[in-house]
Amino acid sequence: MKSNEIRAKFLNFFQSKEHKIVPSAPLVLKDDPTLMFSNSGMTQFKDYFLGYQTPVSNRIADTQKCLRVSGKHNDLDDVGKDTYHHTMFEMLGNWSFGDYFKKEAIEWSWELLTKEFGISKDNIYVTIFEGDASENLERDQEAYDFWKEHISEDRILNGNKNDNFWEMGEQGPCGPCSEIHVDIRSAEEKAQVDGKSLVNMDHPQVIEIWNLVFMEFNRKANGSLEKLPQQHVDTGMGFERLCMVLQGKTSNYDTDVFTDLIAELESISNKKYGSSQPIDMAIRVVVDHVRAVAFAIADGQLPSNNGAGYVIRRILRRAISYGYRNLGMNEPFIHKLIPVLAKQMGEAFPELPKQQKLINDVIFEEERSFLRTIEQGLVRLDNLISNSEGKVLSGAAVFELYDTFGFPPDLSRIIAEEKGFSIDEKGYEEEMAKQKKRSQKASATATSDWVVVDANASESFVGYDRTDGEVNITRYRKV
Ligand code: ATP
Ligand code: MG
Ligand code: MG
Ligand code: MG
Repeated sequence: MKSNEIRAKFLNFFQSKEHKIVPSAPLVLKDDPTLMFSNSGMTQFKDYFLGYQTPVSNRIADTQKCLRVSGKHNDLDDVGKDTYHHTMFEMLGNWSFGDYFKKEAIEWSWELLTKEFGISKDNIYVTIFEGDASENLERDQEAYDFWKEHISEDRILNGNKNDNFWEMGEQGPCGPCSEIHVDIRSAEEKAQVDGKSLVNMDHPQVIEIWNLVFMEFNRKANGSLEKLPQQHVDTGMGFERLCMVLQGKTSNYDTDVFTDLIAELESISNKKYGSSQPIDMAIRVVVDHVRAVAFAIADGQLPSNNGAGYVIRRILRRAISYGYRNLGMNEPFIHKLIPVLAKQMGEAFPELPKQQKLINDVIFEEERSFLRTIEQGLVRLDNLISNSEGKVLSGAAVFELYDTFGFPPDLSRIIAEEKGFSIDEKGYEEEMAKQKKRSQKASATATSDWVVVDANASESFVGYDRTDGEVNITRYRKV
């Protein structure tokens, strides 16, 4: 089944259960001071749960464009390294606002996955909240009993408060959740392990696809819990992971969500996906990041030097860096993927083909100027290396390359190493600390124009961190 059919099938299924299908909210939030990007399906319904707004329908379903690169939900370091975390992804969801509760949510998820989509029940595990004595919270026996009508009891596993109790924030609606995992390991692999490891949920191929949250409590300002007057359901299923399972793949990048993009990138770069680790990583990074950047631009968020625009610029630069370094791309190339992306996603997200020219032009211009930065930096780095007396490059000089000329420190490290040099990391960190102090003084909001991020960098990309008073919208985990 093609990804476009899978998405349609999800929505049709919940429409047949009397859900109103609504469009995705924009990826970039303009009017929520607590959050920069939609990072889960429930983001746009927050006010319904908080009681600030009356729902347009008490049953809703949709697919939501999500971005998890900043704040409490930051998956960026995993993107490209693993094959199932993306920066931008779609979260399929169904909601009940004071309407149905655990019984229907569980029944319908089961019906959809096993009957409509035909996933074998022998490959499914579910988790339920095991309870928490310190909070006087009981085990979610209700969910257990509903699950047991469908699945054998040895496949219903306990989960702790971290994984199976979702909270919107310090205060507000919260409740236990049940997660659905699908075991996509081969029969041989399964045969190699004993019964116990079969339920090792940390195995990357026992993949979490769907989270069903049952909101039944309210956390009060003093930290105590009270029963909500109404109970709600909030679910989120990773679309690309669902496609992987249904298309019999073991990587999201092997589904038709990505294969056309990868084929196009292969032909542009003359590199083959599957040929080496650095090439594969770069290809995954580029085809992932182009989606995040394109959707952000389509939603009106251009790359810029601050706020959400800065996050988008850094994502794009991360892709350019990987392309430059691992794929040998020293000319703009990412914008060339836009026609393929618009064709692939345009049916579900018409904003993409509609804004195609703008997206193309913005990405092209960003690529051009950043590649120039890289080229100029390379010349300076070469000078630095040939004028260096020992085999250790001065931290201050590498920092200057980065701070003044925008040259990614990571690239400096790699090139230095290739030539048998290392970098005085301590000196570098000291300069970085000094610079941070200076910029804090200069302005509370100023951010360097030139930060380029990389999964291997020592100071990992944290996007735009809003620890300052961010309402925690994590789905079920307070970090
Ligand atoms: P994981 O444990 O894999 O990081 P999660 O528990 O953080 O996922 P939830 O907040 O429960 O994710 O979101 C609901 C669903 O969205 C997940 O079950 C998963 O299928 C999907 N999902 C979450 N993060 C990503 C991501 N970065 N890329 C793609 N899909 C994701
Ligand atoms: Mg996560
Ligand atoms: Mg999880
Ligand atoms: Mg989860």
